[in-house]
Amino acid sequence: MSKVNRDEILSILDGYSREDITVATLGSHTSLHILNGAKQEGFRTAVVCEKGREVPYQRFRVADEFIIVDKFSDIVNEDVQDRLRSMNSIIVPHGSFVAYAGLDHIENDFYVPMFGNRDILRWESERDLERKLMKEAGIRIPLKYTDPAEIDRPVMVKFPGARGGRGYFVASSTEEFNDKIDSMIERGWITEDDVDDAHIEEYVSGTNFCIHYFYSIMNDEVELMGMDSRFESNTDGLVRIPARDQLEIKLDPSYVITGNHPVAMRESLLPQAFDMGDRMVEAASKIVPPGMNGPFCLQTMCTDNLEIVTFEMSARTDGGTNTFMHGSTYSYLLHGEGMSMGRRVAREIKVASETDRLAEIIT
Ligand code: AMP
Repeated sequence: MSKVNRDEILSILDGYSREDITVATLGSHTSLHILNGAKQEGFRTAVVCEKGREVPYQRFRVADEFIIVDKFSDIVNEDVQDRLRSMNSIIVPHGSFVAYAGLDHIENDFYVPMFGNRDILRWESERDLERKLMKEAGIRIPLKYTDPAEIDRPVMVKFPGARGGRGYFVASSTEEFNDKIDSMIERGWITEDDVDDAHIEEYVSGTNFCIHYFYSIMNDEVELMGMDSRFESNTDGLVRIPARDQLEIKLDPSYVITGNHPVAMRESLLPQAFDMGDRMVEAASKIVPPGMNGPFCLQTMCTDNLEIVTFEMSARTDGGTNTFMHGSTYSYLLHGEGMSMGRRVAREIKVASETDRLAEIIT
C-alpha cells in the first residue's frame, strides 16, 4: 500500500469551501470538547458515531451532523469518507480514532484532511519509536531493561497494545518477575506469546502529572494548556488499605485508567514543564516532519528530587484534556476563560483558514 498522497490531500482541501468547513471526529474519547470547541469557534460539526452511542452528542448538543456507523472502525469506509469530504470536513484525531481507524488506514487510505501530523501517530503507538523521539528530545525517560535477568531495582512491566494498564506489574527481582508473569498468564491477562514483548522499565516512584501542550504553527509557540492526574484501578484502591492488610489480601495491582482529575503543579516546576514541551516540538520537527503540530501530552512522574520523568507521550489530544472542557488553570493564563483543547484546535483551524494557511496545519 502506498502512503496517503499529500498532493491529493491538498487538492481535496483546495476543493473545500473555506466558509463552510466542518470539524469532524469519531464519537468517543475527547470528542465532546473537540466538537463543542469547534462550535464555539463558529464551525459546523459532525460526529461519526457507532449505532447506539449517539446519546451524549445529542444531549450535549455538540454535533450538527451525525454519521451513524455499525462499528467505529467503519469510519475508514469509502462511503463515510465521501460524506466527510462532501461536508468539507477536517478530521480531528484522538486516541479512540487512532485505535479504531487503525494506523495502516490512517497512513495509507484515509483521504480526509486531518488536523495535525498523521505520520506522528505511529510514533506514540510504538514504544520503541516513542522512546526514540523522547531520547532525541533529551527529556528524562525511565531506564529500559532488555533482559529480565538484569533487574536490579523496582521495575514496571508493560505489554504492547492498548490494554489500559491491565496486566502491568511491578517487580524488584528476576524471580519476582517470573512469578508474576506466571500469575498473569494464569489469569488470562497475557499469553505466553506476550512474554517476549514485555517492556521492562525502571519504576519511577513519584506523583503523576500528565502535561497537555498545544504547539501552534500559526504562532510558532508551545502553549501549556492544562494538567491532569489519573485515577487508576485497582492501584488507587489498594493504597487506601493499610500495608499490613495489603500483604494479607494478596491482590495484584493493576493500572487501569478509570478517570482523570485536574491538577496544578508546584510553580517552581513549570520551567521544567515548558522546557520539556519545547524540546519535544523541536525533536519532532526534525525526525517526523511536520512535527508535533497541535495537541500533545507528556505523561510523567515527578520524583522527590523534583525531577520530571516522562514514561509515555501522546501526539494528539489526550484523554486527560477532558478535565478542562471549560478551560484549565493554565489555559486561563494565556487564553482567558473557556479554552478547552478542542476549542484551541478549532481556533488554530480558524486562524489558518482566515490567513490562507490551512495547508500548513493539515496532513
Ligand atoms: P501507561 O499505560 O504507560 O500510561 O501506564 C499506566 C500507569 O502505570 C501510569 O499512569 C502510571 O501510574 C503507571 N506507570 C507507567 N510507567 C511507570 C513507571 N515507569 N514508573 C512508575 N509508574 C508507571
